[in-house]
Order: sequence, then C-alpha cells, then structure tokens
Amino acid sequence: MHRTMRRLLIAVAHGDDETLGAGGTIAKLADDGVRISLCVLTDDDGSRSENGLGATPRSSAIEAAAKILGIERVRIHSYGDNRLDTVGQLELNRVFEREVREFEPDTVFTTSVSDLSLDHQIVSRAARVAGRPGRGSVREVRCFEVRSATDCGEASGMPAFRPNCWQPLDASHLERKLEALRAYGSEVESWPSSRSERGVRALAEYRGSQVCREYAEAFELLRSVL
Ligand SMILES: [Zn+2]
Repeated sequence: MHRTMRRLLIAVAHGDDETLGAGGTIAKLADDGVRISLCVLTDDDGSRSENGLGATPRSSAIEAAAKILGIERVRIHSYGDNRLDTVGQLELNRVFEREVREFEPDTVFTTSVSDLSLDHQIVSRAARVAGRPGRGSVREVRCFEVRSATDCGEASGMPAFRPNCWQPLDASHLERKLEALRAYGSEVESWPSSRSERGVRALAEYRGSQVCREYAEAFELLRSVL
C-alpha cells in the first residue's frame, strides 16, 4: 500500500538547508499538488558576522528560493545562527509542535542528527518530537542530507547518515533545485566545494545511480505509518 502525501512540513535551522537537502523533491512534490510549508529557525548568518563579514538577513533569499521550489507557506524565526544550543530544546520542540498544529502536515522533512552542524542536530530532534505519534497529524518523518554538514558527519560522533529512501528526479526538478540555490547567492561556493552547483549535481547523479535513475535525492526514512 502506498500512502499519498498531501501536506509536507520542512523543518530546518538555516535557509538553504531545505534546498540543498531536498530541493528537487520539493519541486516535484509541489508539481504533484502537495501543499508545502517551510519553517526556518534562524534568519541571519552568525558565522559570517563573527568573521567580520557582517550578518546578512536571509529572509528575502529564503522567500525567493521557496517561490522557485513551489513552497506555499514560509515561517522564519529569529534565533541566532550557530546558537540553537543556547535555546532550550523544549522551546524549539514547541515551535514545531505549533507548526504541526497549525499546518497539519502528514509528512515532515528535516536535517539529520548525523550532521556536523549542532544546529542541524537540534532541529532534527525538535522536528522528530513534533512529529511523534500521538494526537498530531504526522505519519511520516524523513531526514535529508545537506552537503558539507552531512559530508563531515563523522566528526559529529553520531552514527553516519544511512539513506533508505530515494526520490528519483528528472532534469527539470534538478534545475529548479539549482535555480533555488542561486537565490542564496554567496552561500553557493565554487567547485570543488561540495556546496557548488557542480557538487550538488554530482550528488544527485550519485544518488540517482544507486537506484539506476538519472538523478535522485536520498533520505533516511525514520517512520512511516501507512
Ligand atoms: Zn544548515
């Protein structure tokens, strides 16, 4: 039996996590009529400001990328980038619990606890709590991989990201992902960075080849109630 996805909530720490992790899948699902909401916990780039580069608000880039991907609802919070560990886990759990109550998603996508980024780990835990079985609407929870954060996961001390779910993509969905990535401007790096367009395309080709398809994005399916 195959469960039909109707409403998807994407829970991330940073604008661009959703695009790097699942941009092609989001574009495909939006085309298929799935209603999609994006909740981002931070709206600046704290590591840039610490380096004297000046924090740049990400809200307009997040909105632009969401529009390209077909995300209809965007919620951006103002927690500090790379500082989610200074916010209580309970408070962040409640942010996503409120999102679940308001949007009533049947599916949640989030980052992986295997990522090097502590923000990604904290968001993942909060999203899993909000999507736990109970009175909520969520029946499926998946984690996606984010280039550089998941690539460096061995330094996190957590078990490695192990995909068990693949979404095949066609070229148009991969192109939408790359177009959304461009909306983030300076966050896109040049080859051979894994966060370059070529790096993102290479991962899509690799994940696709694992399931004999042209392109794909891979997920860890944590729970699915049919
Ligand atoms: Zn991130």
